[in-house]
Amino acid sequence: MIGLIAATAAGRQAAAQLAEALGDCRLYQEGPVGAAVRKAWAECEQLVCFLATGATVRLVAPLLADKHSDPGVVCVDEARRFAVALVGGHDGGANALADRVAEALEAQPVVTTATDAVGVPGLDTLGWHVEGDVAAVSRAVLDGLPVRLSADAVHPLPALPENVRTDVRTDVPGNPPTVVVSDRLRQPATDAPTVTLRPRSLVVGVGASRGASAEEILGLVRETLAEAGLSEHSLSRLATVDAKADEPGLLEAARVLGVALVTFSAEELAAVDVPNPSAAPLAAVGTPSVAEAAALLEGGELLVPKRKSAPEGRAAMCTVAVARSRPRGRLAVVGLGPGARDLLTPRAREELRRASIIVGLDQYVDQIRDLLRPGTRIEATGLGAEEERARSAVRLAEQGHAVALIGSGDAGVYAMASPALAEAGTDIDVVGVPGVTAALAAAALLGAPLGHDHVSISLSDLHTPWEVIERRVRAVAESDIVVTFYNPRSRGRDWQLPKALSLLAEHRDPNTPVGVAHSISRPDEWHTVTTLAELDVTTVDMTTVVVVGNTASRQVAGRMVTPRGYRWQV
Ligand code: SAH
Repeated sequence: MIGLIAATAAGRQAAAQLAEALGDCRLYQEGPVGAAVRKAWAECEQLVCFLATGATVRLVAPLLADKHSDPGVVCVDEARRFAVALVGGHDGGANALADRVAEALEAQPVVTTATDAVGVPGLDTLGWHVEGDVAAVSRAVLDGLPVRLSADAVHPLPALPENVRTDVRTDVPGNPPTVVVSDRLRQPATDAPTVTLRPRSLVVGVGASRGASAEEILGLVRETLAEAGLSEHSLSRLATVDAKADEPGLLEAARVLGVALVTFSAEELAAVDVPNPSAAPLAAVGTPSVAEAAALLEGGELLVPKRKSAPEGRAAMCTVAVARSRPRGRLAVVGLGPGARDLLTPRAREELRRASIIVGLDQYVDQIRDLLRPGTRIEATGLGAEEERARSAVRLAEQGHAVALIGSGDAGVYAMASPALAEAGTDIDVVGVPGVTAALAAAALLGAPLGHDHVSISLSDLHTPWEVIERRVRAVAESDIVVTFYNPRSRGRDWQLPKALSLLAEHRDPNTPVGVAHSISRPDEWHTVTTLAELDVTTVDMTTVVVVGNTASRQVAGRMVTPRGYRWQV
């Protein structure tokens, strides 16, 4: 819940507008503003104060307790020009909130937290547990000092600046500040400031008898991890057999540990080769191993074989085994839109900053280079290397990296998503970010040509035989569907567009509207609405789309309009 505190008419108006845009807001605008801030502080996770920063500082100062638990506070000035992240930038989410508020009110976000301001990911914003001297190590990272990265595997981290590296010299006097990424408790001793990030790499398989208590399970899980020198903060899941999916003690233990409980069928577990099979679970649930088999299935590498709890004076009701899973790489397939920066979605922007490696065609990389974090690795290739590009993006993600594969428009439309996903397995996380494809960008320029059924056809016969393309164009012609031609015409491919238009002309009037949109949202953009008879195909090139209307499409005031065609509307 976001508390909105407003004291003036302008503030109240802005607060109402913000509440509408963000949802999940509560307005505090009655009575003295001090009391309103105190009430909101107690009731909300975040506050937006439509007050001067000075007034807000004085009001919240006595309430501040701990940056990890305090609400994030954003201030908006009376003229709503600025949204200032005042306190709780990271943990309180004020930096992100300042961005959202600024967007909703068309204001400028003001973020002064050093890591956000210079594009370095905050060590405490990766979603992993963090231990150690975050402030000192962050300062060293920002100051460009050599900082050692010591990771026990390749993890899908965002790009870190170039001064953070695995091969920092250690033979010079004094140890470098260090960022450790590990699930191990014991780290090499160093007198330099160190931050340890705990990736969610561990799985505990649990076998529990009916009625096993949460205390017994928790005790055994914690003791086992500690004795193996593993951090509880790296625990990602408890795993068990389906029959125990609703075992109260197990559910409670998972809740206390803050992890999910996943389950497998007895057949799945029985098929796993384990070091310590036993007769008891075979009789009870139909598999010779629960703890080890479940840990192995979910994790992969067994670190601690089966152990039993040892309650005093009665039989053990619980067994555990610990496994480690390989880090899952992340492949974001990101559409950049037709060209203009304001047609790039905020989500695409976020994914570009989430990645440590960008894979894409040179010209698309150039389009977004300034948005990347310092230290982002760029794997750009020239035209024609599509498959190689797709494959290399998937391979890098399989190695554990956070990769963004980029394409213009929508990355799934005549672009990289399909060759990449044809190669990708279940061992990586895939995130798709839709982009404004050329057909939609063109339609918005031309009017409303896609108001009824429509298709896109690529006229490029480089990878598709012309017979296939022609069959589809004929089908479109016969079924009276609006069509957008991508890849319509290039120097070496100049007869395909006239041919396609002639096929359409067999079924459509010469006056059928045709829209041409060139270099949409780029500096040399132009567009025109003409007709099937009058279209000059020589104006069409490879940065153009051609939209041909159906028999109901019309020109209205110079715009192309295709009626929705329902009986209630012409
Ligand atoms: N993935 C892209 C399409 C790639 S195919 C998308 O979703 O838009 C390349 C073709 O797209 C070009 O030949 C052209 O027909 C069209 N195209 C892409 N960007 C364009 C733009 N800014 N203006 C006009 N046409 C464009």
